[in-house]
Amino acid sequence: MIEVRGLSKRYGEVLAVDDLTFAVRPGEVTGFLGPNGAGKSTTLRMIVGLDAASSGTATVGGRPYVAQPTPLKEVGALLDPGAVLPSRTAYHHLLALAAGNGIPSGRVKAVLAEVGLENVSRRRAGTFSLGMRQRLGIAAALLGDPPVLVFDEPLNGLDPEGIVWIRSLMRRMAAEGRAVLMSSHLMSEMELTADHLIVIGRGRLIADTSMKGFIEAH
Ligand code: ADP
Ligand code: ADP
Repeated sequence: MIEVRGLSKRYGEVLAVDDLTFAVRPGEVTGFLGPNGAGKSTTLRMIVGLDAASSGTATVGGRPYVAQPTPLKEVGALLDPGAVLPSRTAYHHLLALAAGNGIPSGRVKAVLAEVGLENVSRRRAGTFSLGMRQRLGIAAALLGDPPVLVFDEPLNGLDPEGIVWIRSLMRRMAAEGRAVLMSSHLMSEMELTADHLIVIGRGRLIADTSMKGFIEAH
């Protein structure tokens, strides 16, 4: 479903992503594991088309790579939970996104219910806790009912209840046949969530393995 070949990204002197080649399958949660600065976010942002690659390709669902944001109907992404206009209500944030992407407005209520924000949907996003902003970001990712979901550090800063909730959501989305990509710098966050593990260090591929195989080998 996602084929990444020789993908690299250079920021001046820094080779943030260095010749990555891997595939991501539908029906699985694929975890991108590596320390801070390893290149996980840059890799995910290139897959979503938000960063331009310096070289290489990332084909998502047969769509050749272009450095433009992928439509919400193709890829839903949670990249920066702070990136919501604080003065907008949750409802209007999602309504604007739906309108801009040709998504029926009825989806807004459906995703608000899905993430458990229906009772606070008239509150301004600026009054939300990190966990609520995270849920709003996930609602936006789900809006287009996309076959690919990309979650960058989705468990960061969440309370145990939020962690359990996002984990089960990712498992459910994969069980529905979607490709779910998540990143984390903690192996403990991967063990219960990911089916497949891609380990990145200093921009390079260190391991590409099933979770079961990784645990048996270490
Ligand atoms: P991770 O998500 O694994 O923490 P990142 O992809 O955010 O890693 O960063 C990889 C490397 O690229 C780091 O050295 C980081 O400082 C650098 N980097 C990321 N984004 C930028 C940018 N916009 N400008 C310059 N350097 C960047
Ligand atoms: P707009 O100001 O964008 O025209 P409205 O507030 O008039 O939107 O509401 C349009 C529709 O959306 C109505 O059916 C309303 O019931 C519904 N709606 C508006 N705000 C919310 C909300 N926060 N949560 C759920 N439904 C809402």
